[in-house]
Amino acid sequence: MKMKETKVNLKLRKGDRVRVLSGKDVGKEGEITRVLADSNRVIVDGVNVAKKHQRQTRATMQAGIIDKDMPINAANVAILCNTCGPTRIGYRFDDDGKKIRICKKCEGDL
Ligand SMILES: [Zn+2]
Repeated sequence: MKMKETKVNLKLRKGDRVRVLSGKDVGKEGEITRVLADSNRVIVDGVNVAKKHQRQTRATMQAGIIDKDMPINAANVAILCNTCGPTRIGYRFDDDGKKIRICKKCEGDL
Protein backbone atom coordinates (compact mmCIF):
# COMPACT_ATOMS: atom_id res chain seq x y z
CA MET A 1 0.00 0.00 0.00
CA LYS A 2 1.38 3.35 -0.99
CA MET A 3 0.51 6.47 0.88
CA LYS A 4 -0.10 9.49 -1.24
CA GLU A 5 2.40 12.09 -0.26
CA THR A 6 0.87 15.43 0.45
CA LYS A 7 3.49 18.11 0.56
CA VAL A 8 1.96 20.80 2.67
CA ASN A 9 2.61 24.27 1.48
CA LEU A 10 2.51 26.47 4.53
CA LYS A 11 0.72 29.70 3.92
CA LEU A 12 1.82 31.19 7.18
CA ARG A 13 4.91 33.27 7.52
CA LYS A 14 7.10 34.59 10.25
CA GLY A 15 5.59 37.80 11.60
CA ASP A 16 1.99 36.84 10.92
CA ARG A 17 -0.48 37.53 13.71
CA VAL A 18 -2.54 34.45 14.43
CA ARG A 19 -5.19 33.17 16.83
CA VAL A 20 -5.04 29.70 18.36
CA LEU A 21 -8.08 27.58 17.47
CA SER A 22 -7.58 24.53 19.64
CA GLY A 23 -5.50 23.12 22.44
CA LYS A 24 -4.68 24.53 25.85
CA ASP A 25 -4.03 28.03 24.49
CA VAL A 26 -7.26 28.31 22.51
CA GLY A 27 -8.20 31.95 21.91
CA LYS A 28 -4.68 33.26 22.47
CA GLU A 29 -3.21 35.57 19.87
CA GLY A 30 0.39 36.15 19.01
CA GLU A 31 2.99 36.66 16.36
CA ILE A 32 4.64 33.78 14.54
CA THR A 33 8.30 33.78 15.45
CA ARG A 34 9.25 30.70 13.45
CA VAL A 35 7.77 28.52 10.72
CA LEU A 36 8.73 24.84 10.69
CA ALA A 37 7.62 23.94 7.18
CA ASP A 38 8.90 20.36 7.29
CA SER A 39 6.67 19.41 10.18
CA ASN A 40 3.87 21.83 9.28
CA ARG A 41 4.22 23.60 12.60
CA VAL A 42 4.72 27.14 13.77
CA ILE A 43 6.06 28.77 16.90
CA VAL A 44 3.88 31.58 18.17
CA ASP A 45 5.12 34.14 20.66
CA GLY A 46 3.69 33.37 24.10
CA VAL A 47 1.72 30.33 22.93
CA ASN A 48 2.25 26.73 24.09
CA VAL A 49 4.83 27.88 26.60
CA ALA A 50 6.72 25.15 28.38
CA LYS A 51 8.43 25.82 31.67
CA LYS A 52 11.94 24.52 31.43
CA HIS A 53 13.94 23.95 34.53
CA GLN A 54 17.45 25.02 33.94
CA ARG A 55 20.51 24.37 35.95
CA GLN A 56 23.07 27.07 36.22
CA THR A 57 25.91 26.64 33.79
CA ARG A 58 28.70 28.86 32.69
CA ALA A 59 26.88 29.35 29.40
CA THR A 60 23.52 30.46 30.78
CA MET A 61 24.71 32.30 33.93
CA GLN A 62 21.19 31.89 35.26
CA ALA A 63 19.46 29.10 37.08
CA GLY A 64 15.77 28.55 37.52
CA ILE A 65 12.76 28.24 35.29
CA ILE A 66 12.72 29.63 31.80
CA ASP A 67 9.77 29.93 29.42
CA LYS A 68 10.12 28.33 26.03
CA ASP A 69 7.60 28.62 23.21
CA MET A 70 6.93 25.17 21.77
CA PRO A 71 5.76 24.53 18.20
CA ILE A 72 2.08 23.97 17.49
CA ASN A 73 0.43 22.54 14.42
CA ALA A 74 -0.23 25.14 11.75
CA ALA A 75 -3.72 23.70 11.31
CA ASN A 76 -4.55 24.88 14.82
CA VAL A 77 -4.01 28.57 14.15
CA ALA A 78 -5.88 31.08 12.01
CA ILE A 79 -4.32 34.20 10.56
CA LEU A 80 -5.83 37.45 11.77
CA CYS A 81 -7.21 39.94 9.27
CA ASN A 82 -7.24 43.57 10.42
CA THR A 83 -10.88 43.80 9.37
CA CYS A 84 -12.40 40.36 9.97
CA GLY A 85 -10.32 38.79 12.71
CA PRO A 86 -9.48 35.10 12.25
CA THR A 87 -9.76 34.17 8.61
CA ARG A 88 -8.44 31.93 5.88
CA ILE A 89 -5.79 32.81 3.39
CA GLY A 90 -6.57 33.20 -0.30
CA TYR A 91 -4.45 34.46 -3.15
CA ARG A 92 -4.61 36.99 -5.90
CA PHE A 93 -2.08 37.94 -8.54
CA ASP A 94 -0.89 41.48 -9.04
CA ASP A 95 -0.08 43.11 -12.38
CA ASP A 96 3.36 41.51 -12.40
CA GLY A 97 1.90 38.05 -11.81
CA LYS A 98 3.14 38.04 -8.26
CA LYS A 99 1.15 35.98 -5.78
CA ILE A 100 -0.32 38.07 -3.00
CA ARG A 101 -2.06 36.71 0.07
CA ILE A 102 -5.55 37.97 0.70
CA CYS A 103 -8.24 37.47 3.31
CA LYS A 104 -10.88 35.06 2.00
CA LYS A 105 -13.63 36.99 3.74
CA CYS A 106 -13.01 40.62 2.74
CA GLU A 107 -10.41 39.96 0.02
CA GLY A 108 -8.10 42.58 1.49
CA ASP A 109 -4.35 42.02 1.40
CA LEU A 110 -2.88 40.22 4.37
ZN1 LIG B 1 -10.68 40.26 6.05
